[in-house]
Amino acid sequence: MKEVLQDLSFAEITKLAEEYGEKKFRATQLYRGLMQGRAISEISDLSKAFKEKLLERFEDRPVVIEQVWRASDGTEKYLFRLSDGNLIEGVLMSYKYGNTQCVSTQVGCRMNCAFCASGLAGLIRNLTSGEILSQILVVNAAHGGTLEKRAVTNIVLMGSGEPLDNYDNTLAFLRNVTAEGGIGVSARNISLSTCGLVPNMYRLAEEGLPINLTVSLHSPDDEERKRIMPVANAYSIADILKACEYYFEKTGRRYIFEYSLIAGENSDREHAEKLISILKGKPCHVNLIRLNEVKEKNLQGISEKEAYRFLGLLERGGLSATLRRQIGSDIGGACGQLRAGYLAETEKKN
Ligand code: SAH
Repeated sequence: MKEVLQDLSFAEITKLAEEYGEKKFRATQLYRGLMQGRAISEISDLSKAFKEKLLERFEDRPVVIEQVWRASDGTEKYLFRLSDGNLIEGVLMSYKYGNTQCVSTQVGCRMNCAFCASGLAGLIRNLTSGEILSQILVVNAAHGGTLEKRAVTNIVLMGSGEPLDNYDNTLAFLRNVTAEGGIGVSARNISLSTCGLVPNMYRLAEEGLPINLTVSLHSPDDEERKRIMPVANAYSIADILKACEYYFEKTGRRYIFEYSLIAGENSDREHAEKLISILKGKPCHVNLIRLNEVKEKNLQGISEKEAYRFLGLLERGGLSATLRRQIGSDIGGACGQLRAGYLAETEKKN
């Protein structure tokens, strides 16, 4: 695989253009072209010779849209192909206020949560910052978005992978996607979801980036959490809560917990009460998700009615909580399911 030009910041691109003997304004043209989602070969205002030199070292299109599925509610699921042939997935959800894109940060994942399809084959590799960014750039372009008027207004790092397990590249991505003169998504419109890698939650708090921090909790009890999320063996819920408090102190941003409701595991009254007792009074919000059943995993979701009952308990207990509307369910799949399904299909064909 060649290098990924979209890994570079504007300052780094400026330096590169200089090294190639190009005038300064060429760096601006190159950077703007890339941020508009163009392949190097498609940036028409650069000389052929400059582009040829770039293409010796850099991938023309590090991320290509392989397939798109559109749900009846407007949700789109994307399968992207990377230069080394690996596949990753993403989702674009449309809301009244704009479009939220969910991006992947790794190919596969090594966290191995009991309910999640992303970790089925372990971690394949980290994405580079430019590969994370390019998911946004190509989808923005596909929707006619420009740098002045973006089609992608909000970003969630909730696709495949654990963003804080790919810390440096995720951080470089966050700096580049929020940079002025680029695609310029506001940090306040970005949410990062982690399974709770506590040391890197503290690091993130120090970065001066006011993004929203989301933690996948899924249980108010350490022993039970260990059964569904192996990472809980390393960090306790108390440690996670302390790190969240610190994040709030540093950024002033209220934090969010994700809680996927699993039948017979974490969705009864007792769990609601315990959740209330550990979270009450904290500047947080609970986002309930009905489990998306993964066929390789032996876990069941609960009905919408039961989910609303759980939500009601949390609300009456004084927590701020919502049940995430199930969007795009007719095109199927949570994290990793799309890629797993596609790989299985293509294997069958071959
Ligand atoms: N690694 C990060 C981000 C990726 S997952 C994290 O753990 O937060 C985004 C959210 O979807 C997480 O809360 C994850 O636990 C949840 N999730 C994964 N698979 C799911 C499934 N099959 N059903 C419901 N939620 C799921």
